[in-house]
Amino acid sequence: MTQTEPSACLFCRIARGEIPSKRVYEDDDLVVFHDIRPAAPVHLLIVPRRHIDSLITAEPGDQALLGKMTLLAPRLAQENGATDGFRLVVNNGPGGGQEVSHLHFHVLGGPRPWR
Ligand code: 5GP
Ligand code: ZN
Repeated sequence: MTQTEPSACLFCRIARGEIPSKRVYEDDDLVVFHDIRPAAPVHLLIVPRRHIDSLITAEPGDQALLGKMTLLAPRLAQENGATDGFRLVVNNGPGGGQEVSHLHFHVLGGPRPWR
């Protein structure tokens, strides 16, 4: 049982295209779009299409997916204007400050200062 039912989950709905987003990448496993409230000039969210709450509930079978998300980050950072490096952030659970209970990687970059 997941914290949020996929039918109602915000990022499941964005992945299915039911809620609009500014997509920069998609494939069979992942969608990547701009954060609605960017904390840096480049702020992307890498989101698996399949609902996983967070790294806390990720399983050994998710290893390839997590590797794919990680290796996509530098490419999309570069392509979207974070040419000088980037920060990769993953908030997990309430104690980790996670607000949307669907696993996502934040890719942050661009000219400083950031918000
Ligand atoms: P968390 O705090 O869960 O790690 O991050 C959730 C992120 O999702 C926040 O940075 C927030 O701005 C972003 N966000 C929340 N709702 C939406 C939305 O409807 N569309 C997009 N593109 N980003 C969202
Ligand atoms: Zn979801």
